[in-house]
Amino acid sequence: MSTTRCYYETLSIEKNASGDEIKRSYRRLAMKYHPDRNPDDPEAETRFKEATSAYEVLSDPEKRSQYDQYGHAGLRGTPGHDFNRMNVEDIFSMFNDIFGGMGGATQGGRGRSRGGVSRGYDLETEVAVTLEEVLEGATREVDFKRLDVCETCSGTGGKPGVEPSRCPTCDGNGQVQQAGFGGMFRMVTVCPNCHGRGKIVIEKCADCRGAGRVSLSRTLEVQIPKGIRDGQVIRVQGEGEPPAPEKSPDGTGIRGDLHVVVRVHEHERFERDGDEIIWVQPVAFAQAALGCTIQIRTLEDEVPLVIPAGTQHGAVLRVGDAGLPNLRTGRRGELVIIIQLVVPTKLDEQQRRLLEEYAELEEIPVTETGRGFWSKLKDKVTGG
Ligand SMILES: [Zn+2]
Ligand SMILES: [Zn+2]
Repeated sequence: MSTTRCYYETLSIEKNASGDEIKRSYRRLAMKYHPDRNPDDPEAETRFKEATSAYEVLSDPEKRSQYDQYGHAGLRGTPGHDFNRMNVEDIFSMFNDIFGGMGGATQGGRGRSRGGVSRGYDLETEVAVTLEEVLEGATREVDFKRLDVCETCSGTGGKPGVEPSRCPTCDGNGQVQQAGFGGMFRMVTVCPNCHGRGKIVIEKCADCRGAGRVSLSRTLEVQIPKGIRDGQVIRVQGEGEPPAPEKSPDGTGIRGDLHVVVRVHEHERFERDGDEIIWVQPVAFAQAALGCTIQIRTLEDEVPLVIPAGTQHGAVLRVGDAGLPNLRTGRRGELVIIIQLVVPTKLDEQQRRLLEEYAELEEIPVTETGRGFWSKLKDKVTGG
């Protein structure tokens, strides 16, 4: 076993990450370190394999629990967890499962074709939004660079007006014969010199230096739907790269997609928990004991909130329809208010006198339930 990095660390996720978070994180890393996007980069290949190993374990509840309990040692003997022994095709078959329906990033990545049509690379970019924008939805201009078909040479890589010449390796056939197994039979393969075109460029296009592709900046307007969560991805179909020149000399074929990863900024005031937003509200002892109505800020404005008499520290109050819209249903979650009892640190003379009088009257029945305050609080917030 050569992979010993902590799987959670490898995927940059918390120990309690959800299945979705694991998948998202792996997806991002896999796209970044994909061997096809990092040719001849052993470091990237290692990172890709590490991420894949981590994903393979953490996405399987049984293996994950074994790993949580016993670490890497807990997985010894589990078939198929060591990706260093797997070949690349195995990894890609798994990779395809993850990307299924996501635009076939691997198809582009591997330069495979569907129905004989080549598909280009997917690209990835990031945008950041505020919680207020999550509430309303937003439009963002995204700038990104992509390789595009060189207009000067229409992607051929040849100087316009100069005819390409016949490939000397295959004599223009696009195919070469090779002897297999010591001459027992002959195999026909695509010519490695001209990639099957039968012609080679003799004078290179000055604009793309013969590559047939140039890096161009592009700006797009992207709609960010209401309710989007941090790390979710918007796929803009057909805004990725055209197929590589050897797959598609004339620049035809299907472009990859652009994946826009949405980052949601932390809010100065509210914590987000799914469609709910959470606010800790300080309340004075007298307000909590006597009950009162206070003004509470939401994402948009202020609403009155009734604090019932006898409200305890840590009590949870909820304001309906003041949370965030659900991405699918559009229904808004709640604003969850956690009451924090504030004990005065300075008393003037009159306050002190009144409190002392009160204290004399009070018989404090302190009950000990045996359960910690925080675990009770957690139950309340999560509705347990
Ligand atoms: Zn060119
Ligand atoms: Zn050739």
